[in-house]
Amino acid sequence: SFTPLASDFYGFETTLTEQERDFLARLRTWLDTDIKPIVNDHWNRAEFPRQLIKGIADIGAAGLAWEETRPFENSAAFRGWVAVELARVDASVATYLGVHNGLAMGAIAACGSAEQRAEWLPKMAAGNVVGAFGLTEPLSGSDSAQGLRTTARRDGDTWVINGEKRWIGNATFSDVTIIWAKDVDDNQVKGFIVPTSTPGYSATKIENKQSLRIVQNADIVLEDVRIPHSLKLENANSFRDTARVLRATRADVAWGAVGTSIGAYEAAVAYAGERVQFGKTIGSHQLVQDLLAKSLGNITASLALCMRVSDMQDDGTQKDEHSALAKAFATSRMRETVAWCREIFGGNGIVTEYDVIRFFMDAEALYSYEGTREMNTLIVGRAITGTAAFV
Ligand code: FAD
Repeated sequence: SFTPLASDFYGFETTLTEQERDFLARLRTWLDTDIKPIVNDHWNRAEFPRQLIKGIADIGAAGLAWEETRPFENSAAFRGWVAVELARVDASVATYLGVHNGLAMGAIAACGSAEQRAEWLPKMAAGNVVGAFGLTEPLSGSDSAQGLRTTARRDGDTWVINGEKRWIGNATFSDVTIIWAKDVDDNQVKGFIVPTSTPGYSATKIENKQSLRIVQNADIVLEDVRIPHSLKLENANSFRDTARVLRATRADVAWGAVGTSIGAYEAAVAYAGERVQFGKTIGSHQLVQDLLAKSLGNITASLALCMRVSDMQDDGTQKDEHSALAKAFATSRMRETVAWCREIFGGNGIVTEYDVIRFFMDAEALYSYEGTREMNTLIVGRAITGTAAFV
């Protein structure tokens, strides 16, 4: 049965339905038994545990948002709590699902035709097809709305894609990668479902990452990659369509940031209760309690914001700037929180055996991906002032 998290200090989880809570309980049990014991070792070796793909699919955590694939009707807040459960064990685990489910399936759900949704979403939910999402390029990150170099050219009933992508999560083993490319005819950004077995497509693992070491990222090269027109996402016809996908996933990253903070905080609370200095547990020293209370404050404020963004997603009022502020705020608070929690461990806070350094390092990637803090701040700034200040 479901046990509320002590870090959910104001009981936000009480708003979930019994079915949603039962799901979270099952997910937590699986993560505690199968995933938590192996994450430090995989993080040290920068290896992705392949059993995660099937495990997540079997539990039903991929495709929760869509009619075609969801096991039961559920709320966006519930799906946020799913991200929290994953990230409080390991942020890469949450990122794997964020990319496969949020970005890749999300692009097909938001921009695909009914036929494309029916063809791809069920097999992706079942874990038989793993997805990646290729927007960022070596020369275009924050400016991808204007700066994409990858091109797509219509040739009869096919499209020919050329270019390079960088940082693409899951792409060392994905079966399909959603590739965003500029149509040479109208200069608009369009989206394509590219099977990774297509000739001309190659992906190379990015080595030596010191953040999110478990999830794999790749550089992709596309050389005259030819795909049928049926794989062009029917409703992905300008960057505005890409932004519709990111509106949902940026809110997911805010939730993932809360989960990452909670993972570090739970480790710190446990350590503060065990470690003895000056004849008493460090948790009974006032300055350590200050760090814990500030961390809980950050977690709580971020959770409140995430709950509200998810409600707005459900009632259709969520705009880009709502997700952007939640992402920028939650990841900034996470960065403070994981640092305070690491501090509580003293020297032990820098070895993976004590978990907290993993959360500390992983937080850096969450802070920068899906739009850096600056980009998300500029989206909010545009909403406040009516002036876009990106360029
Ligand atoms: P740049 O755009 O070069 O930015 C560098 C710095 O300059 C940042 O601090 C930025 O905020 C700042 N800056 C840039 N322009 C401005 C401005 N106008 N005003 C103020 N400051 C500015 N991408 C994908 O497409 N798919 C993925 O699956 C994916 N996964 C990722 C996973 C990881 C672990 C990482 C690290 C990245 C991933 N990304 C992915 C890419 C990610 O979205 C980009 O790294 C991010 O958008 C920033 O782009 P950049 O790294 O090129 O930095």
